[in-house]
Amino acid sequence: MVAENYRAVREKIRQACARAGRDPSEVTLIAVSKTKPLSMIEELLPEGAVDFGENRPQELKEKYDALPKDLRFHMIGHLQRNKVKYVITRACLIHSVDSVRLAQAIQEEAEKHGVVMPVLVEVNVAGEESKFGVRPEDTADLIAQIAKYPNLRVQGLMTIAPFVEDPEENRVHFRNLYKLFIDIKARNIDNVCMCILSMGMTNDYEVAVEEGATMVRVGTGIFGERDHQTV
Ligand SMILES: *Cc1c(COP(=O)(O)O)cnc(C)c1O
Repeated sequence: MVAENYRAVREKIRQACARAGRDPSEVTLIAVSKTKPLSMIEELLPEGAVDFGENRPQELKEKYDALPKDLRFHMIGHLQRNKVKYVITRACLIHSVDSVRLAQAIQEEAEKHGVVMPVLVEVNVAGEESKFGVRPEDTADLIAQIAKYPNLRVQGLMTIAPFVEDPEENRVHFRNLYKLFIDIKARNIDNVCMCILSMGMTNDYEVAVEEGATMVRVGTGIFGERDHQTV
């Protein structure tokens, strides 16, 4: 079931790439396994799945520690500074940096472990009160400040688009984020590589791929509904 869903999502990504004239190898599918058991992740390994997304630091730690080390765990959720220690040597990429204070905490922990941590800056594309992320107009400034930390490497942008009935409603947000991505890339900021654009979830990943996503984060569409109490 889970493997079948995964294959179906891959196929939808391939079709969205075809519509947009893109090469499917440009798009990484992250299977968002938060709240789901190890056994479900293991079901996907024969499909060649290696990228998994978690939003709770302790859960990421437990899953990383229990599974083969060639899997890549993405920290996609809001990260508190005192939880950075759980993910620093385990996550392949932190998608949710939205403040200098968090960047500073990542810098300290990464330095302690002698690693350089790849991160994305989370942008609140629709200005929603309830969402984390920096405002689009403040994004370049934040990146310029974070770029000074030697043990952090900004690799791109991430967004969580609004929850909408019709994914077409989010096209404008994905398009705007893509423009911002290109704009910041053109500034050639030292120690910054604008190469990853993480946008699109179960409800809207096809539109996101059409608008230039290089990573999509799909949970429900692969693993089924989550228990709502646990998000
Ligand atoms: C849970 C989550 C997802 C996946 O959501 P689905 O709608 O289940 O695909 C993607 N990104 C983030 C940041 C999440 O927290």
